[in-house]
Amino acid sequence: MAENKFTRGQLPIAAEDPRPAVLDGYFAPLDTLKGFGTKLIAPLKGLIGPENGTPARVVDLLFHLPTSTIDRRLRTTIADAPEGAIVTLIGRIEAHRHAPPGRSRMPHRVVVGDESGELLLVYFGQETGWIERSMPVGSERLISGVIESFDGVKQIVHPAFVVDPQKPGGFSAIEPVYPLKAGVTSRFLHRVVRQAFSVVKELPEWLSPENVAGFPPFLGALRNVHQPSTPDEGAASSAAGRRLAVDSFFASQLALALLRRHTRQRHGRAMSGDGQLVEPLIAALPYTLTSAQVRSLAAVHGAMAAPQAMLHLLQGDVGSGKTVVAMLAMARAIEAGHQAALMAPTDILARQHHATLTPLLRGVGIEPVLLTGRERAVAKAKVLAGLADGRIRLVIGTHALFQEDVRFADLGLAVIDEQHRFGVNQRLALTTKGEAVDLLLTTATPIPRTLVLAYYGDMDVSKLDEKPPGRQKIATRAMPLTRLDEVIDGLRRALDKGARAYWVCPTIADEGEEESGVEQRAASLEAHFPGLVSLLHSRLPQARREKALSDFSTGASRVLVATTVIEVGVDVPDATIMIIEQADKFGLSQLHQLRGRVGRGTQASSCVLLYDPDLSETAKERLQVIRDSEDGFYIAEADLRLRGPGEVLGARQSGLPSLPLATWEAHVDLLPTARSEARALIAADPLLTSPRGQAARLALHLFGQQRALRYLLAG
Ligand code: ADP
Ligand code: MG
Repeated sequence: MAENKFTRGQLPIAAEDPRPAVLDGYFAPLDTLKGFGTKLIAPLKGLIGPENGTPARVVDLLFHLPTSTIDRRLRTTIADAPEGAIVTLIGRIEAHRHAPPGRSRMPHRVVVGDESGELLLVYFGQETGWIERSMPVGSERLISGVIESFDGVKQIVHPAFVVDPQKPGGFSAIEPVYPLKAGVTSRFLHRVVRQAFSVVKELPEWLSPENVAGFPPFLGALRNVHQPSTPDEGAASSAAGRRLAVDSFFASQLALALLRRHTRQRHGRAMSGDGQLVEPLIAALPYTLTSAQVRSLAAVHGAMAAPQAMLHLLQGDVGSGKTVVAMLAMARAIEAGHQAALMAPTDILARQHHATLTPLLRGVGIEPVLLTGRERAVAKAKVLAGLADGRIRLVIGTHALFQEDVRFADLGLAVIDEQHRFGVNQRLALTTKGEAVDLLLTTATPIPRTLVLAYYGDMDVSKLDEKPPGRQKIATRAMPLTRLDEVIDGLRRALDKGARAYWVCPTIADEGEEESGVEQRAASLEAHFPGLVSLLHSRLPQARREKALSDFSTGASRVLVATTVIEVGVDVPDATIMIIEQADKFGLSQLHQLRGRVGRGTQASSCVLLYDPDLSETAKERLQVIRDSEDGFYIAEADLRLRGPGEVLGARQSGLPSLPLATWEAHVDLLPTARSEARALIAADPLLTSPRGQAARLALHLFGQQRALRYLLAG
């Protein structure tokens, strides 16, 4: 194999791309702003700026967007000022009525008049000296606040603004409201922002003329959002809000595209084989591949044969048969003379893969080994040695696979099963185990393609959109827990006929009075069905867990009471009943996954969703979705609709990155635009040297994507 000079993560870094001077204002530390020293800025720490403790810069402040506005446009006279409204008016200071000495809980009142009437400004608190100083009797003041009435007299308690109308500096008719923390007010932020705008420069346009139409320029959009002249002008859905989101997506897409191009160029290698393993494996399968499997496999084999590094996502609903595609991809890597690894999110799943793949692979002379981090030291040492000297050609394991002490002689392909269960770093860690590792990710999560792209940039996706033949619909019913007896009777009838059932509970041990813990449920079912029940949860010792699953898959036990450890991957085709307790506690996609443990063979299967009798309407609607559909995409969409995108698309749920100035909820529709924009630019100007390419470099700097520029400089 050709020496590859570079490994991932150690890129040849030329110089840093020097930051163009036009950006100096954006990157000035906040405490260099006129009128705001270190002391004044200090409270912003933790609210604005990099988390690593380096001082906040102007750009950090400008990327801290207001979330709403207060409308102070209503100008009236005192007589016309409507009660309860926020008004802005101009009046003359007529008198100060101090609280009587010793009665400090009485307010300080300021009498204000105009030609239409009188109004009181009311201030509670002890420090009132500043009030008199800032509102000398006889002066005119622009006042804004909420009109109230007390004893028939109009008043404003603690007005938001009292300023000289000749110098209305701090006042804005549309007042932005910022996310805050203790010790920082929106008005303070607004003042710093205004100063910040005085040091930043207009930037050249980085969007193409087609896409820029209808949008303000970048700096203009920032101004509109921070200093809107109408309440709508700066909203997330406004032209300005959308422009900024496009910029943010654009910068991240550009960075991903550059990274992708870089890794492709540096690290690719072609893996092709002669079919000596793949063909007999396919021939030995107890079934024929579905046409979707054939298609996906061709795509994966094709990508492996290409000289670029592969990054391929295999999407397929639960039960669609992803494992065999993964196996045949690994067989190809081994044919081509490399090693292959399969990483699963739980050790239960890793063991199961090992158990199901071993008989197949043995037939072609491959002995897969298992590495889950739970091996004894001697066994582990043997595995590590075998991987390091290349004798072991295929390893199946958990995240233990990318621990530091694991070295491969020549890892060609890494498969990450149920990839959404892993963090981005874990995924990447596996690719650093070799010089040019091709990566195949599998997932049952129906992430829409646009989001896949957002997440990974340029990734190939193939879909198993067809289930293996002979699958029957899973009869799904929802029942209140009060009908538990009926469920148990039904289960007894089925067990008498030889059925096998999963019984899933949300927790391991009971915390409340209700029996929802898996341990209590196993005990009570054991009383009904002596000798037939086994228990599986993550806190049991490994030997017991292994036994529970193998007893259940051989039929030695026939009810597997488990937590959601069985949610992904577990494959016992003879199991036909799934009972889920407190089904309302689970997400819809999770219920779908759990239910997908049955209906894997040719026998009819059923699923019972047990719920708390006093369920909310939404919760009932959600269970209804599961009853009505077995389509993972439909269910995910319904989940989105019923829970709102925040929860489903939120960073925690899906692992989507959060980007400045953009929210997935409001702006996800802009992603394709940003993406095609980034790709078109890179295609036309790969080194970003044209005027628009240079402008795009500015965007990379602004959005903290300089790392991408290093790849660019590295060639
Ligand atoms: P998932 O996509 O959920 O990971 P699996 O790979 O575990 O699905 O496959 C589910 C079940 O379907 C397994 O029992 C597997 O042996 C079986 N299977 C896979 N492909 C086919 C096929 N083409 N025809 C029939 N059964 C298949
Ligand atoms: Mg699977």
